[in-house]
Amino acid sequence: MNRYVYQQEEDLVDKKYFGSCLCGSVQFEIEGNFDSFYLCHCKHCQKDTGSAHAANVFSESAILTWRKGKECVKPYNLPNTLHSKSFCIDCGSALPNQSEDLDFIVVPAGSLDSILNIRPSAHLFVSSKASWEQDLDCIPNFEKLPVQND
Ligand SMILES: [Zn+2]
Ligand SMILES: [Zn+2]
Repeated sequence: MNRYVYQQEEDLVDKKYFGSCLCGSVQFEIEGNFDSFYLCHCKHCQKDTGSAHAANVFSESAILTWRKGKECVKPYNLPNTLHSKSFCIDCGSALPNQSEDLDFIVVPAGSLDSILNIRPSAHLFVSSKASWEQDLDCIPNFEKLPVQND
């Protein structure tokens, strides 16, 4: 078996990903493969995440199963938009969303406990970027908390 064939067969095997919320009330698993991974900088995603952008992976074929705490998952659809999300009612963490109108699942990358082996496909809505989200490579980086200089 040459390496190319081996690689193809490996790609056909459905992967399993595990995830959970911050407080641990909700646990889920995703079986299948992700199609795309987008960093969305739109104003809705800024409000939704409280940050510069959302980081979501998408799949049309993967299966989402709630392993624990399904009753703690609250979906929210912003009226008159395609913007939707799900979150834990105990801790507010972002969770996977499977809207009935959409035939794909959206999984916040940060909600996964498994290592995600794909890289972001693209930045979206960069025209709506927050004013402070520029030249971020130029500011100091700390391994953990900032070093105290007193
Ligand atoms: Zn929670
Ligand atoms: Zn967005």
